[in-house]
Amino acid sequence: MVTRSLPSSRMDRLRGLLPGIGADALLVSLLPNVRYLCGFTGSAALLLVEESRSTLFTDSRYTFQAREEVSTARVHVAKHGLIRAVAEALRSHRRRFRVGFSLHGLTVAQKRALDVQSGSTIRWVSDDSIVEGLRAVKDADELERMRDAADLISRVFGDLVRVIGPKMTENDVAAEIEYKIKHYGGSGPSFDTIVASGPRSAWAHARPTSKPLGKSQLVVLDQGAIIRGYCSDMTRTVFLGKATQKVRRLYAAVLEAQAAARNALRPGVAAHEVDAAARGVLNRMKLGAYFTHSTGHGLGLEIHEMPRLGRNERTVVREGMVVTIEPGVYIEGFGGIRIEDEVIVTAAGAVNLTTAPREFLEL
Ligand code: ZN
Ligand code: ZN
Repeated sequence: MVTRSLPSSRMDRLRGLLPGIGADALLVSLLPNVRYLCGFTGSAALLLVEESRSTLFTDSRYTFQAREEVSTARVHVAKHGLIRAVAEALRSHRRRFRVGFSLHGLTVAQKRALDVQSGSTIRWVSDDSIVEGLRAVKDADELERMRDAADLISRVFGDLVRVIGPKMTENDVAAEIEYKIKHYGGSGPSFDTIVASGPRSAWAHARPTSKPLGKSQLVVLDQGAIIRGYCSDMTRTVFLGKATQKVRRLYAAVLEAQAAARNALRPGVAAHEVDAAARGVLNRMKLGAYFTHSTGHGLGLEIHEMPRLGRNERTVVREGMVVTIEPGVYIEGFGGIRIEDEVIVTAAGAVNLTTAPREFLEL
């Protein structure tokens, strides 16, 4: 595998934020945060970011991998556990050395062991999700990967609509999607693929079953791929057969809500305003009660990242954020419709990363 060295600017920007949380150093424990900062993709890692150096602590299973992947930190292969190695590194510090941490990626028991072993000179402070905050704004390298992941899943959907039919089961369809993801070079699905037909499509997070899709049915397909560590996420709702006026009207309403959110999304707007734009359209059509989740979410190394586009979300949208826009309506006993695209926030507004068409499809 060819690895490219990471932009060291990520580490530099992080260091610039440490005074803001009152920390002299940061212990990074969430694996996607570790990967983001130093490139390491193994499953055992703690990263200690200090003012003038960073150290990745891992174990002997990852000696060679770390040497190849890590470009912005020195690698310490711990012989007696990561916690002990980190504690030893911290013990050498002056009194009242302040270290930012989060319990994301660290168990309470591990944190307790760190407290005991690193001694009384260390002051622990909350990390205030500063790495997650950095990750919300994507750099050029991340955008390239995300564009590829969004393209891939659009292509998978393009193939799927040619073969999907009433005799296929929900599981068949999910398997087909996941096969195509790997066939086109993805490392796998970015979450458990959702295929829900008929009244089950009203379950926003339905798991596929062995039920055949059947004729004259709505089918919600929510799918995503991972390429070079980055996720995509896209939902399409199709109809097998000829749809009724009611179904067409609902689809048009969701599409309009999605367009309204997309138009509202630009740098400087608060996340809840984007949600309100989609919700407002559905409220006007007396469908607001059927829209039971938030309008979208950030994504990247993880399928759900900052910001969340939901009610009461005060986060300010910034240029370079990548989010989904996915309004839906879910009517018990009838079915559900969701349309989800991924967009990047630019100075000129939202630009689609998802390339699959979003017009209503009767198959
Ligand atoms: Zn989705
Ligand atoms: Zn989503």
